[in-house]
Amino acid sequence: MEVYLDNSATTKPYPEVCEAVAQALTREFYNPSSIYDKAVDVSKKIEEYRELIALTLGCKSKEILFTSGGTESINTAILSLKNSRKKHIITSMAEHSATLETMKKMEKSGFEVEYLKPEKDGSITRQQILETLREDTGLVSLMAVNNEIGSRTDVIDIAKAVKAVRSDVIIHVDAVQAYLKQKITLYEGVIDFLSISGHKIHGPKGIGVLYHREGVKLLPLLSGGGQENGYRSGTMNTAGIYGIGEAVKRYYPKLNEHIEKMREQKEYLQSRIVNEIEKTRVISPDDGICHILNVSFAGIRGEILLHSLEKEGIYVSTGSACSSKKSYSHVLNALELPREVKDGAIRFSLSEELRREELDFAVEVLKKNVKAIRSIMKFGRGKNV
Ligand code: PLP
Repeated sequence: MEVYLDNSATTKPYPEVCEAVAQALTREFYNPSSIYDKAVDVSKKIEEYRELIALTLGCKSKEILFTSGGTESINTAILSLKNSRKKHIITSMAEHSATLETMKKMEKSGFEVEYLKPEKDGSITRQQILETLREDTGLVSLMAVNNEIGSRTDVIDIAKAVKAVRSDVIIHVDAVQAYLKQKITLYEGVIDFLSISGHKIHGPKGIGVLYHREGVKLLPLLSGGGQENGYRSGTMNTAGIYGIGEAVKRYYPKLNEHIEKMREQKEYLQSRIVNEIEKTRVISPDDGICHILNVSFAGIRGEILLHSLEKEGIYVSTGSACSSKKSYSHVLNALELPREVKDGAIRFSLSEELRREELDFAVEVLKKNVKAIRSIMKFGRGKNV
């Protein structure tokens, strides 16, 4: 049996998504900017998908921009502020590298970026933001859900509080791990930019969405043919748009059911791990997102456990997929966890498609491998002494 428990890294596209992608590449391969009927039909379909995504967020379809993924959406949002007179930016130390690396660029262009340390549960609080807010703060950029530990920040509450004090501060939310994993509504108009990725919601890779509130300045990253109202030049990624659109179409009507299912699975997995394997520490907070469970196994190196599980068909992660080659995750560092806790951390990330027997199988394999690695490590230590 194979059990894929790395859904924060990417999800398996739905069959409907693959069919729609194939359709866009075969029968409907036309350029949506062309003016004959077949191309216009493709363009209409893109607009329908745009409307659907807008509906799920509670915004207007003209506020939805298709991009190449979460990374491009985040870059576009933050770099839209590059000419701002207000040179102070607030973000957190636990953001995704797409945000952190773009912030470095902003610093090089003369901005002062303040990186807040998350609370013990991994979240950023309204109070922290309000205390850091200055006259010259132009941007607050925060993730709604942390991709490594699943902690949640109440971004809507923070945005409301910020706008109440300074209505001209731009708020960007990285919602890559939050979209379709919790409810997000933009009706209240306090969020200016919001980034989404297709491959985290059973869509294809290389497609994303940037919500940009009407009237908020958006600077295009690319120059060219002026597609997407000039905001994103380049022939449109019809296959990607069909794919993300179909993923949302299948997922959204069952949003509550899926969230509940993942929450139950997470609780089940967590209780079995904690009760059946000694010396574990759950890093994810109790009120974390429904699909991410980060647990540390004492006396074990996460990477060794990861590869031993892989050999038996269980796929997990030691940190975020993008940063797994670095020695310690910047998120675990920001939480100031002891070295041995960081060493043994494993991220299990779930999907609504997982079955109970798959989780049971994964737990049995996990128990066996933790025990085996621990006994070898004790054996090794004994020999060296
Ligand atoms: N933000 C978060 C929180 C993520 O988890 C990821 C991907 O891992 C990204 C941004 C980047 O998204 P993409 O892979 O679509 O560029």
